[in-house]
Amino acid sequence: MSPKFFKTIEDKKIPLPVFFPDATRAVLKTLDSVDITNTQTPGVLVNTFHLYLELGKRVLIKHGGVGNFMNWAGGIISDSGGFQVMSVIKANPAQGKVIDEGVIYRPSKNKKILFTPEESIKFQSHIKPDMLVVLDDFTPPQASREQAEDTVNRTIAWASRCKDEFQKIYAKTPKAKRPYLLAVVQGGDYLDLRKYCAQELVKIGFDGFGYGGWPMRANGEFNYQVAQTIADCTPKDYLLYGLGIGKPDEIVKLVKMGYHIFDCVLPTRDARHQRLYVYTAKSIDQINLNDPKFYKYLVPTKQKYYSDTSPVSTACDCLLCTNYSKSYLSHLFKIGDSTAMRLATIHNLRFYSLLMEKQKTRLT
Ligand SMILES: [Zn+2]
Repeated sequence: MSPKFFKTIEDKKIPLPVFFPDATRAVLKTLDSVDITNTQTPGVLVNTFHLYLELGKRVLIKHGGVGNFMNWAGGIISDSGGFQVMSVIKANPAQGKVIDEGVIYRPSKNKKILFTPEESIKFQSHIKPDMLVVLDDFTPPQASREQAEDTVNRTIAWASRCKDEFQKIYAKTPKAKRPYLLAVVQGGDYLDLRKYCAQELVKIGFDGFGYGGWPMRANGEFNYQVAQTIADCTPKDYLLYGLGIGKPDEIVKLVKMGYHIFDCVLPTRDARHQRLYVYTAKSIDQINLNDPKFYKYLVPTKQKYYSDTSPVSTACDCLLCTNYSKSYLSHLFKIGDSTAMRLATIHNLRFYSLLMEKQKTRLT
């Protein structure tokens, strides 16, 4: 049976599919946790490597996890930190390298950190998330066959070490109170390698799979073929997670393939750069995700909005749309007031929570 809920360690059941925005450093830029709750966003993703480097386990242990630390009662996923650190070192080898033991990272000339699969899981357990993600070796875009094979083999070996560490840490925790452990399927554009990676990971046993690596082709188009291959290799009772995905139309297509969970910086980053997501429908009831043009972008500082008294969207019930005009938001962005970013971020998050709500209705 395909999962219907994302279960938190407090036994809260969040209906799937879900979108968790990125609260990378235990904060969703420009918002506090009450703001996030008010956008009806059910959970957030935090970044293990940033919290490892910048916060440390002592503070997390003292608070009893990142949820208490940021006063957030919703769902929490911690990523492994691998994607961020490897993106840096694979682009700039002077900053570190990947070895079988783990990832060597040099944040500065005199500092060297060895981040292992075991250390990733240990640190994530201090975050106290509802889902932990294994450390994986990221297959770079346009990797050669040999490179891709290397990353797949290391991803499988590391996943196995992560599972062992996870079982050690949660040995005394009753099964119902244990968080999920997610494995990541690598292999780049090589479909047979993706398949092999998935099959080997199933043998180790996890609660779900993530679409790992970079999901775009060299020409900038989303690689749905890889997404489908991973979905085809995923056991029915696993959660399926589109890591770092994506645009609203990409999410709609992936939910149809069976994906349940998504996280992405797009809605929040775009909001800060004056790109608001707006449904083309006139009201929330009329939103139709089967319409190929179900949404558009709105840039509030365009000349035509300077004196526009209407809200950003009539198909939205967020703080911005129910209280302020396009003209006011345009003014706030123009004078560089931080309230503009907050209101735009709140709006884009509500756009995404509505996007997921509409897909729940369709599934039932
Ligand atoms: Zn709105």
